[in-house]
Amino acid sequence: MPAARVDLELPFGKRCDAFYCPACGAPIAQPEHGLSPTPCEHLRFVYLESVGLFAFVADDLREALDRAERAADEAADEAWDPLDAVCALLPEQNVICVHLTTGGMACGPVWESTVYGLDLLGRGAREHGRERDAEEPVAAPR
Ligand SMILES: [Zn+2]
Repeated sequence: MPAARVDLELPFGKRCDAFYCPACGAPIAQPEHGLSPTPCEHLRFVYLESVGLFAFVADDLREALDRAERAADEAADEAWDPLDAVCALLPEQNVICVHLTTGGMACGPVWESTVYGLDLLGRGAREHGRERDAEEPVAAPR
């Protein structure tokens, strides 16, 4: 089961003044202050769907995502999708992907979506998980 997807669509013409982390309440994105997100420990990535680019990827995900992209390049995988790839790197539990869609007038009506990937348990749970993985039993000497 993939990470839970949450779709939020604002009424046409309404801008998103701020997007807050649902786990800690930190203001992650305040578009009026620029497009760069202000990550809290729960934010794993921000993906700008209309341009197909990440505005933010957590450091510990960046390398694995780069590796996945190189592998897709080498395999000439044209179906490779950066959003699917980053979601595949995240645990299935405790992660939500919020697809926030806004619409406004440019040369015509334009809709755009920003996807916020959030691990609701935060850094402590991730580090605990890594420690647990590292504690695999060692084979007894013969
Ligand atoms: Zn947070």
